[in-house]
Amino acid sequence: MNSQLQFLIELQKFDLRIFQIQDSQRKAPDLLKAAENPLKDILSRLQILKNTGETLVTQQRSAERELATQEDLLHKVRSRLSELKTNKEYQAHLFEIEQARKKKDSIEENVLETMERVEENKKTVQELETEAQEAQKVFDAEKGRLESQFAEMANELADLNQQQQKVADSVEKPLLARYNRLKTMRKGYAVAEVKDGSCGGCRLQLPPQLVAEVRRGDDLMDCSYCHRLLFMAHHLEVETLD
Ligand SMILES: [Zn+2]
Repeated sequence: MNSQLQFLIELQKFDLRIFQIQDSQRKAPDLLKAAENPLKDILSRLQILKNTGETLVTQQRSAERELATQEDLLHKVRSRLSELKTNKEYQAHLFEIEQARKKKDSIEENVLETMERVEENKKTVQELETEAQEAQKVFDAEKGRLESQFAEMANELADLNQQQQKVADSVEKPLLARYNRLKTMRKGYAVAEVKDGSCGGCRLQLPPQLVAEVRRGDDLMDCSYCHRLLFMAHHLEVETLD
C-alpha cells in the first residue's frame, strides 16, 4: 500500500490521543475545583456558625449587664422600705418591688436562654470542625491523586509530541498540509476507514469504483463528500505483518 497513507494513519492515532490529553488538561482545573467543593461548603457553613456564635456571646454579655443593673435597682428599691411612713406608701412600694422583680426574672430568663444557645452553637461548631477535618483529608487525597494523574498526562503528551513529530517528518510536505487542514476541519479525524462501502467519517455510501481504488491502495483517495483520506482494514493488517 501507499506508505504515505500508512504514515497518516499512524499520525492520526497520535493526534487523537494528543487531542484527548489536551482536552483532559483543559478540564483539569474544573476537576480540582469540584473536588474542593464539599470542603469549601463546610468551611463556609462553619464561618456562618462562628459569626452567629460571636453575636450570641455579645447578646449574652449585654443581657448579663442588664441583669446586674436590674438586680442593683431591685436592691435599691428594697432598701427604701425603712423610709416608708403610710400604708399607702407601703402598698405602692410593694408594687414597685414586684414590678422590678418581674423585670429582673424576665432578663434572667433571657440570659439563660442565650447561654443555652451559645452552648448549642459551640457544639455544632465542634461537630462541623470535625467534618471539615475529614473533608480536608478527602480533598488532600483526591488532589494528590489528580495531580499525579496530571503529571502522567503531561509526560505522555511530551512523549506523544515527539513521536508525532517523527511521523509527521516522514510525510511529504503538501500531503501533511492537506492532512493538517482536514484535521482542523474534521475535529482530528482527517483519515477515515471504509467499511461496507461507506466512509467511516461521514457515514455516506461511496461509489463502488472509489471503494475498489481504496482497496487497491495504490493511490491516496479521498471521500467524495467529506474529503477525508480513505483506507481499509487490510491496510492496517499489512502494517502489523511488517
Ligand atoms: Zn466521508
